[in-house]
Amino acid sequence: MTDTPVRNTTARWRDLDRRHHLSPFTDYRDLKGAEAGSRIITRAEGIQLFDSEGEAFLDGMAGLWCVNVGYGRKELAEAAYRQMLELPYYNTFFKTATPPPVELSERLAALMPEKLNRVFYGSSGSESNDTVVRLARHFWKLEGQPEKQHFISRTYAYHGSTMASASLGGMTPMQEGFGLPLPGFHHVVPPYWYDFGGDLSPEEFGQKAARAIEEKILEIGPENVAAFIGEPIMGAGGVIVPPPGYWEEVQRICRQYDVLLVADEVICGFGRTGHWFASELFGIEPDLMTMAKGITSGYLPLSAVGVSDRIVEALLREGGEFAHGYTYSGHPAACAVALANLDIIEKEGLVERTRNETGPHLQQALHAAFDDHPLVGEVRGTGLIAAVELVKDKASRTHWEKLGRVGGICRDHCFANRVVIRAVRDAMVLSPPLVITPAEIDEMVVRLKHCIDATARDLGVL
Ligand code: PMP
Repeated sequence: MTDTPVRNTTARWRDLDRRHHLSPFTDYRDLKGAEAGSRIITRAEGIQLFDSEGEAFLDGMAGLWCVNVGYGRKELAEAAYRQMLELPYYNTFFKTATPPPVELSERLAALMPEKLNRVFYGSSGSESNDTVVRLARHFWKLEGQPEKQHFISRTYAYHGSTMASASLGGMTPMQEGFGLPLPGFHHVVPPYWYDFGGDLSPEEFGQKAARAIEEKILEIGPENVAAFIGEPIMGAGGVIVPPPGYWEEVQRICRQYDVLLVADEVICGFGRTGHWFASELFGIEPDLMTMAKGITSGYLPLSAVGVSDRIVEALLREGGEFAHGYTYSGHPAACAVALANLDIIEKEGLVERTRNETGPHLQQALHAAFDDHPLVGEVRGTGLIAAVELVKDKASRTHWEKLGRVGGICRDHCFANRVVIRAVRDAMVLSPPLVITPAEIDEMVVRLKHCIDATARDLGVL
């Protein structure tokens, strides 16, 4: 036996990872021991991932909520290959464009809510939300209201990892000790009835949570508020589905105080909820809409901001350079992949299939498996996004001590049982590729049931 790592083996990759790589959202101390090491994923097909040992996993998360058309799609690789040979890169700065981003913009304009007809590109969801911050402030300056600088968001929101997008977000661990949120970013209660609803009905609580935005606007002064931002369904915060009526009231409030409404569709977009965008589902008419992830199904990095006619009119009327942009804004290969990805979603009817077949199938299967489970407080979701909330006491909606511990136990059971299902605090969240079949959904739910049972036995409640 030798300690020298052999090339292209799990041991070698783990060793290199340990010595030279820093993974995001990782406690590096966990990787210190010789026994520890990252999972190395080497290959994927359909909804299955394969690790460096050849073990297969069902991917219940579509990567990070993004591989909507599933893995192994040759059309997407070929679109990138063709575009890279033709024109791998050119920038879109200073009155320049290339064909893929302009073609994609037309396609997106047709799919986005009616008043959004222009697109500004970036490479990540974080960048798209940074663009929103700068564009909203630029807009209000053009409108002669430069003091409209403040943003309102919600606790548990996730809008990205850059300094501005993490300020928009409402995750305490991402802000404490980082000097965040930056000045001018405020947070109100999320529409999370299960945790914050108390004795109110979900609908009553939805109204209360919306009114919290109004109270915050009045506290800051409407003349100082640029925008409110929200994910139609909060994803990384735990798949929080707002109660009926919430978004109507939010929209009414934003209009009343002339506050821009920003929909972050980074997770919800491109079919996840059974609609092209969840804004359709909730009747949201955003002034700005951010997109990423499903726009290319994650095959290449790309993000976009849909911009409303009202904002575009101000840009055209007032003039003056919008001093903002990224080297890779409108990257030709990424946009070519996005076009091919939209072709697949349309040709295979994945939005309709999610709405009419696989989405209802997943939600029904989860309810059937867990509504009466002693460890499960709530099953929630719509389309192919869902959460199963693990709690100590169903009747009183009481969580286990040390929130996140039980979710972690269950997530580890899931990996051991070859299904990737993420834990957000103690909620198990699912967001599988939209190409998943009903039979694959059944298999995924069977494995999750096995893992939740095992967790319940670990806790002595089964
Ligand atoms: N917005 C939402 C709703 C997200 O879920 C995410 C990523 N999970 C982002 C923004 C940030 O996207 P990215 O990681 O591509 O920067």
